[in-house]
Amino acid sequence: MSYFSDLGLAEPILRALETKGYTDPTPIQRQSIPALLEGRDLLGIAQTGTGKTAAFALPSLHRLAADPQPRKPASCRMLVLSPTRELAAQIADNMKGYAKNLRLTVDCVFGGIPIGKQARRLVPGVDILVATPGRLLDLIDNRALTIGRTEIFVLDEADQMMDLGFIHALKRVANLLPAKRQSLFFSATMPKSIEDLGKQFIKNPVRVEVAPQSTTAERVEQFVSFLNQPEKQALLSLTIRRLLAEKQLDRGIVFTRTKHGADRVARNLSAAGIDARAIHGNKSQAQRTAALEAFRQGSCPVLVATDIAARGIDVSGVSHVFNFELPNVPEQYVHRIGRTARAGADGVAISFCAPDEKPYLRDIERLTKVKPDVMPLPENFLADAARLPAPVRRAAEDTDMRRDQPRGRAGGGRRDGGRSDGGRQDGGRRDGRRDGGPRQDAPRADNRGEPRRDDTRRSDAPRSDTPRSADRTGQDRRRSDAPRSDAARHDAGGEAAAKRRFRPRGPATTGQHRNKVRRVV
Ligand code: AMP
Repeated sequence: MSYFSDLGLAEPILRALETKGYTDPTPIQRQSIPALLEGRDLLGIAQTGTGKTAAFALPSLHRLAADPQPRKPASCRMLVLSPTRELAAQIADNMKGYAKNLRLTVDCVFGGIPIGKQARRLVPGVDILVATPGRLLDLIDNRALTIGRTEIFVLDEADQMMDLGFIHALKRVANLLPAKRQSLFFSATMPKSIEDLGKQFIKNPVRVEVAPQSTTAERVEQFVSFLNQPEKQALLSLTIRRLLAEKQLDRGIVFTRTKHGADRVARNLSAAGIDARAIHGNKSQAQRTAALEAFRQGSCPVLVATDIAARGIDVSGVSHVFNFELPNVPEQYVHRIGRTARAGADGVAISFCAPDEKPYLRDIERLTKVKPDVMPLPENFLADAARLPAPVRRAAEDTDMRRDQPRGRAGGGRRDGGRSDGGRQDGGRRDGRRDGGPRQDAPRADNRGEPRRDDTRRSDAPRSDTPRSADRTGQDRRRSDAPRSDAARHDAGGEAAAKRRFRPRGPATTGQHRNKVRRVV
């Protein structure tokens, strides 16, 4: 069976698919749809971008349409739970598209906007409701909704739900749902804790797995640059600038670990002349929607996002994912790089790894069974960084600039035809053309130094919002702002000036400082 028309879906649904230009089901759709049409429960292990929304939407719409029923006040026939607002809105939009030739209504509720309007919309009842868990329970507590008549229940992105601490909310939802229902449970990863959660929702499910568990999206080419935390902003700015100038970057998402970090990185990218917007939970819904729309339309090529906010970004044409900081939960890396390479496209993921993040990198490599290729710093990194505007440049000052990696060209290159040395880059051209410029081979082993003893902080240790080295930078910056800005005015550009600005700092200083911080912590 290779066409949607072979799967037994109702004609109005096939027509809607035709409008979208979808003819062939994706593997998860092929595997799920027949079992779901029979009313079976489903446990789906699928990464983002596999087409899982349609996998659960199409057969559900078919079954609801085949058994038409009058709407009941303040209730729904199908409930889809999603961890984030963006993802909920995305799912609802998709469902509306697939249901456009049916007489089924779709609504979406999530936090961040007044509850009253949502409650009023629910008065007559709705066929399909997409919700985030918190707002769903608020509506139930306000007696604006009952879910006791739900016929089909979908829990999407279960692992993310757990990460976000929705476990108790989900247990409450499980108790409020009717025993007789069809349940679908999706997760990108399936550790034991998620499987246990799944058992509370699904009975005797068909298990569908479209990619081996936690396998990194195959089409994503992965690179890592080793550098110090304060140098990251300069490298990011230079890399994105070059990729944009060479027309390789269509859309890029930069991941930061914290909301403040996202704001700072977006601000600094803008200062460097790159149109970038931040998207995270502290932004209003209107700001998030506007940023996503600008990104979708291409007027803003770079989005800086925290993991949670990025969950709902379903934008095709994301060519690059940048991990400004490595996630301390390795599964998060899989989610992040899944933002690119959606629906068959290919993509590039570039991670910036500071010395204290090397243990995270090892965890990621263990999980994904992929070692990203090492991307050396650009040849003229120092001089180019020195020419960046003050806020970006300053972030890199007072850095230990001792380099343990060769310099070469950084930024989004594709793998060189499967070369095993992984070092020579082709400059990341999306058209595959090589520019033949001088390149420096950077054998991977050279750059994979073991973390220093003071860098072996584990992922379960509490992390402060600001990496320690950045804290130090902040303190030092306050001490020595004035003379440096003078120097910047007089010496703008030259490498000598850059070297003066990026004053070498011995490892002992860094180590001593970190040890001091650790004792305080
Ligand atoms: P999802 O994994 O549900 O987030 O879907 C990823 C992207 O693939 C979305 O943009 C979908 O609209 C698109 N998509 C889903 N199913 C198909 C299909 N059968 N053919 C082409 N694109 C699809």
